[in-house]
Amino acid sequence: LASRQFKSGNTVVKVNENYVGNGKPVFIAGPCAVESEQQLMVTAEFLASLGVNFLRGGAFKPRTSPYSFQGLGEEGLKILYKAKLATGLSIVSEVVNVEDVEVVAEYCDVLQIGTRNMYNYPLLKKVAKTNKPILLKRGFSATIDEWLLAAEYILSEGNFNVILCERGIRANSKYTRNLLDISAVPIIKELSHLPIIIDPSHAVGVTKYIPPVSKAALAVGSDGLIIEVHPNPEQALSDGQQSLNFEQFKRLYEQFSVEATNK
Ligand code: PEP
Ligand code: MN
Repeated sequence: LASRQFKSGNTVVKVNENYVGNGKPVFIAGPCAVESEQQLMVTAEFLASLGVNFLRGGAFKPRTSPYSFQGLGEEGLKILYKAKLATGLSIVSEVVNVEDVEVVAEYCDVLQIGTRNMYNYPLLKKVAKTNKPILLKRGFSATIDEWLLAAEYILSEGNFNVILCERGIRANSKYTRNLLDISAVPIIKELSHLPIIIDPSHAVGVTKYIPPVSKAALAVGSDGLIIEVHPNPEQALSDGQQSLNFEQFKRLYEQFSVEATNK
């Protein structure tokens, strides 16, 4: 169902008033984790003032260490929803557990499946049944075919609102967190009708490399970018080293949103 043979035209995923995969790249931005109402609200207001349409923020965080900040849970979802009501931004947030699918779907517009859960088939089937748009990240060691089969788990439940997200794969790189597989974009475009976006933040893991890699992502035809932004990255409870501050994000957004609309 995910293949071009099944459907030749591109799938365009509608999220409220916005479209992913219609030729104009989308920007999804926000903190790695929702930390407080104040942190999220200033970020949401800032992004909305720039013209960004999507706010990301994790309420349930799949942290590598059990001792790291795990997210605010349902309280974080309520804060996200409050930000949506205040700004009109569409909310993207990760669901980690099968048991949390309903509550995340209640507050959020797009359900994110993280890299660690790409192979969690019961979770894929459960999120599919909400009929909400799903942002499906590539497993950090998944092949393209395994990734498309993970998407197939969602499509085969009757939910075609799938956005793929390349976020870097495991490699021996001393200088970046992961290795961005930029070729995933043209390959996915050839093999599938689904939209694909790039997450440069988790791919490179270092603030300074995010603008050039974002440029490459758009040049290769990505349907959008998902980028971590924090009002004060040095104080972030997660992924501060790869989060852009407001000024850095504004510079990137203004450059690329103009280039994108001029295409
Ligand atoms: C995230 O987007 O916050 C995240 C945890 O990403 P990934 O699953 O790609 O590591
Ligand atoms: Mn993160």
